[in-house]
Amino acid sequence: MTKFIAIASGKGGTGKTTTAVNLAVAFNDLGKDVILLDANITTPHIALHLGLPEVPTTLHDVMRGRAHITEATYLHPSGLKVIPGGIDDLFDAGERRNELGALLLGLYGKTDLVILDAAAGIGAEAMEAINASDETIIVTNSDLSSLSDALRTIRVAEEAGSVVPGIIVNKASKNNMDLSLEDIQSILGKRIIAAIPEDLKIRKSLSLGHPVVYTYPSSSSAKEFRKLAKLLNDEE
Ligand code: ADP
Ligand code: MG
Repeated sequence: MTKFIAIASGKGGTGKTTTAVNLAVAFNDLGKDVILLDANITTPHIALHLGLPEVPTTLHDVMRGRAHITEATYLHPSGLKVIPGGIDDLFDAGERRNELGALLLGLYGKTDLVILDAAAGIGAEAMEAINASDETIIVTNSDLSSLSDALRTIRVAEEAGSVVPGIIVNKASKNNMDLSLEDIQSILGKRIIAAIPEDLKIRKSLSLGHPVVYTYPSSSSAKEFRKLAKLLNDEE
């Protein structure tokens, strides 16, 4: 059985792509067969985070009906399988022939886990990823606006029938948080499954085009991403 997990947040810039990429690598390191898919259709970033050079076939080509979804799968040096969007591809909704949910059926039975990097907000694009996913993991920061957006995202995900197993608080450095982890947990009414510290190594890795879990495996953030993958894996 293939499980689909969306990484969503509401607010932009909370760390969805960073989380999706690193969680996927950490799951892959645990021996899971994982595909990371860029469900941020209008502003895709996975290829940037993974330093993928121009690839011949992207998710956008699949959405245009030019290729099967399995033909847009690439291998990162970490061993992770990735379906990127085209960075330079100004994909326009009018060009779309296929809906994401229907395309994802093409991955069913082909892998253990599909991790979807969702678009920001709770508009149609983000909802497409959430609707298609068994679970939605919410990434928030400790400020009120990202918490408010996280709360909305939890509501719409649950209304859509996607289970919210917990919250990831990102950029959560003890002495630099607007609200404490306890307060965040009680505001959102969900358990916190990871607190990822603010870590300069994340920005460094992004400029190298590799996930921090791969480039700096002993950094503070990489350790937390691996701990999270282990927790979710053990609970399964
Ligand atoms: P989103 O996908 O939610 O828009 P990103 O994952 O692209 O957010 O992260 C936004 C920016 O914040 C990136 O420049 C990324 O390198 C940086 N970032 C994300 N998480 C952390 C962290 N824990 N520590 C430091 N920088 C981070
Ligand atoms: Mg992103």
